Amino acid sequence: MVSRLRLVLKFGGTSLSSTKQIRAVAKFVYTVSKKNEVAVICSAIDDVTDQLLHISEFIKKGDKNAASFVLSKLKKQHRRIANESVSNSKIRKRLADKLDSDLSELEGLLHGMMLLGEVTPRSLDYLISFGERLSIGIVSHVLQDLKARSLDVTGKDVGIVTDSNFGASKPLMDTTRLRVFTKLEPLLQKRTIPVIGGFAGADQHGHVTTFGRGGSDYTATIIASCIKADEVWLMSDVDGLMTADPKLVRDAKVIPEVSYVEAMEMALFGAKQIHPRSFEPLLTKKIPMRIRSTFNVNNPGTLVTATPDESTNKTVKCVSVIRHNGLIDMRGGSMVGAPGTAATIFSELAKAGINIMMISQSPSESSISVVVKKNDLDKAVNTMEMNLLGKIIKKIDVTTDVAIIALIGSGMRGTIGVASRVFGAAAKKKVNVIMIAQGSSELNLAFVVKDGDCAAALQALHDEFQLANHGSR
Ligand code: ASP
Ligand code: MG
Repeated sequence: MVSRLRLVLKFGGTSLSSTKQIRAVAKFVYTVSKKNEVAVICSAIDDVTDQLLHISEFIKKGDKNAASFVLSKLKKQHRRIANESVSNSKIRKRLADKLDSDLSELEGLLHGMMLLGEVTPRSLDYLISFGERLSIGIVSHVLQDLKARSLDVTGKDVGIVTDSNFGASKPLMDTTRLRVFTKLEPLLQKRTIPVIGGFAGADQHGHVTTFGRGGSDYTATIIASCIKADEVWLMSDVDGLMTADPKLVRDAKVIPEVSYVEAMEMALFGAKQIHPRSFEPLLTKKIPMRIRSTFNVNNPGTLVTATPDESTNKTVKCVSVIRHNGLIDMRGGSMVGAPGTAATIFSELAKAGINIMMISQSPSESSISVVVKKNDLDKAVNTMEMNLLGKIIKKIDVTTDVAIIALIGSGMRGTIGVASRVFGAAAKKKVNVIMIAQGSSELNLAFVVKDGDCAAALQALHDEFQLANHGSR
């Protein structure tokens, strides 16, 4: 007999975008819960967080009508889905009452923010946490409608305590562990399914905080660590981590197994975005994570573990891409042997709020290249021109629209000849390599090409490392 597992199942917004999907999710959870202890984490219904962010923009602009219009759309959407997805009239009424109470709190909050005409980081977190508050009520009541025992609970109420860094908070794990365990253990023992709101917690003063976009993944792993789960499943609209983006590489496959570190690298690229901190809570207890599709539940997806099976340890596990970036190349004889040059460049960019995605410096020290998001490019170039051109920098060259291609796989470490295969494959397709960077962990080899070359480069590398033969489908 297979023993009972304690599982944390997290559903992303795209798995919760319609009545039909929410019913399917609840049925799946109910089935899994018959043989296992299950805690569910939900994101907001698809697109709702974005809508809440739009509301905040309208408040900033003082556009009351536009903000109210979006609010009324959200109200209608949630009421409709709630009404359609629960058949038992008593349960439907309970859900309607709960939604009314949450929605009137949201309305009150909006009213207050509008009167003040300002959006502070704290009020913004409170506002955008409502997406999850609204979705968990629905999912939990649909589970009750299926005759499961279930309870909805927000990140704050389940006991996730964070620092007060609104918009990018971190959990205070010791306190959180204690509170979450105390809250959830009795429910799990009684086989009641807690449906927990992802993305948000509260600081020590009780103010709601969020983890940043995509933060429900992080909630799932935090909860998993607190209740000593056997596995965490991230359920979304993709089959798992892929050997490449299937839109760009025709024979891309699901990767069966990766390590935490590989997954962390892949999370930043690729079709399945995972909140980058999500792996941290899993590391000490080595809790495995599965990345699976809500719409294809027979597919086992990708297993993320501390020690992937030897047989899955290929040199390169995936080729991924971040498209549409800008590259700035800065040169100057006075950069040579001048300590602090890089620091000056980077701190000027940091002051302008620009995130640097990739860096390389030639050993002659006469040039430094950086890649930034396309949206940041103008600002970055301006900053460099205004503050450093004619001083430490003599010349700036800009290439618009470049793609960063990254090969990821811990098997590259210490394997001789990977780089020559990579650049040989690119050369055969006549793809010009503009810039190269490899971290000394050798887990990730990244290079930059013109965006127009990226599909050819990806396919060439996917073929070269025979990734289509390694995937599971
Ligand atoms: N609802 C939040 C977002 O859209 C959190 C999440 O989906 O994980 O970013
Ligand atoms: Mg989301």
